[in-house]
Amino acid sequence: MNRNRATKILATLGPSSSTDDVIERLYLSGADVFRLNMSHGSHSDHSDRLGAIRRVEARHARPIGVLLDLQGPKLRVAKFRDGQVNLSAGQTFCFDQDMSPGSQSRVCLPHPEIFAAAAVGDILLANDGLLRFRITSASLTSLSTEVLAGGVLSDRKGVNVPSAQLPIPALTEKDREDLRFGLELGVDWVALSFVQRAEDLREARNLIRGRAKLMAKIEKPSAVESIEAIIDAADGIMIARGDMGVELPPEDVPVIQKRIIGLCREAGKPVVVATQMLESMVNSTSPTRAEASDVATAVFDGADAVMLSAESASGRFPIDAVQMMNRVVERTEGAPSYREFLRAVRPPATSGTAEAISAAIFTITSRLCVSATVAYTTSGATASRIARERPASPILSLTPDQSVARQLALTWGTRPLQIEDAKDVEDMVSKATTAASQVGFDQNKPLLIAAGVPFGVPGTSNLLRIVWPS
Ligand code: PGA
Ligand code: MN
Repeated sequence: MNRNRATKILATLGPSSSTDDVIERLYLSGADVFRLNMSHGSHSDHSDRLGAIRRVEARHARPIGVLLDLQGPKLRVAKFRDGQVNLSAGQTFCFDQDMSPGSQSRVCLPHPEIFAAAAVGDILLANDGLLRFRITSASLTSLSTEVLAGGVLSDRKGVNVPSAQLPIPALTEKDREDLRFGLELGVDWVALSFVQRAEDLREARNLIRGRAKLMAKIEKPSAVESIEAIIDAADGIMIARGDMGVELPPEDVPVIQKRIIGLCREAGKPVVVATQMLESMVNSTSPTRAEASDVATAVFDGADAVMLSAESASGRFPIDAVQMMNRVVERTEGAPSYREFLRAVRPPATSGTAEAISAAIFTITSRLCVSATVAYTTSGATASRIARERPASPILSLTPDQSVARQLALTWGTRPLQIEDAKDVEDMVSKATTAASQVGFDQNKPLLIAAGVPFGVPGTSNLLRIVWPS
């Protein structure tokens, strides 16, 4: 339970991880935040899982973050007469808007926006990119295509149109219902899928009304193109490499990943690297060496969190997957070169009292071996600003606000704890010392405390204090 790493682990829950017992073991093995994936499962499945998470949280008296992941406007074909067809390369195949069941030569694609935006020569992908079609003639009701890569196409399979920016709303009717449901449950983060532009975040932001933080999933080429504006509009970013690797060539993904992590670190906003991280552990007790290396790369880049999808949600070895991820992260952060890699991306210096204090914390922790920096943070902004510097010792974030504590569970290097605000400087030292020992920090080393006086007023970061053990 006492984590020995800065990079956080985000684990998706699903049929393999629905009981109190499994969720508790995932938490104890290293999961810091849990993802409820609205692409699968019923509302009652998700509310049961949330109940289990909150019981684990209460038992261990540590905040746990919950991320509600909305499905977004995922495009799908309709159904086939026989459930599926097998298409061969070279044949012609037609997508239309005729609701009758599909055949070997056609299927309904119930998304008029695609027909309005598609042009001759555009590529359509289906079934995670396994099937490829080139449009040979296009009208508002029918797209004739040549099959470039064939295979089985079955009912309701996903379709991607990488080249087009589609005029579709970022939230579907289902997303709105799922969002309402999630906010009632009290989730801490909401993730939006298939974001295309910064404006796509506006409606969700208005509906959420400050009740959760908003994360944009980057999986469309158009989102990569306007990444700066999206980072600006969001509270956090997920690099959703599954759909991204379908919409863009796989060789583009690593470069995009590095660039997005760098930009998020500059902005001081949490960034999650997601999908296929330990994919082979869906069916195996150990990952490939390449997968272990993939997790390490995200850690070296300074990502806030690494994510498990099917590995923890529907795989055979959810606990082993979290344990393995925890081990790879710990070993990577223990490497002598880790700090050097982190320093390769140093966010630009910004001016202001709070910024100067965060920079000072970075300097102090690199010259004095403190057990932790205790950050009194009302809104979480102070804790995030310190984390942005990637200081050498952990950040113990103390906040009176339970949802801020849970939201910070995703942020690099911070151990959040919900605690009443300090009354005066003496109380600040005593609460910090008690909290540090409760979380298990070394009591023989000095503590660095960052706070704002007067206490309890947000935006007053103005005090740094080093407390030596008595
Ligand atoms: P998903 O998002 O699991 O909701 O598709 C992640 C991804 O696309 O990588
Ligand atoms: Mn996706």
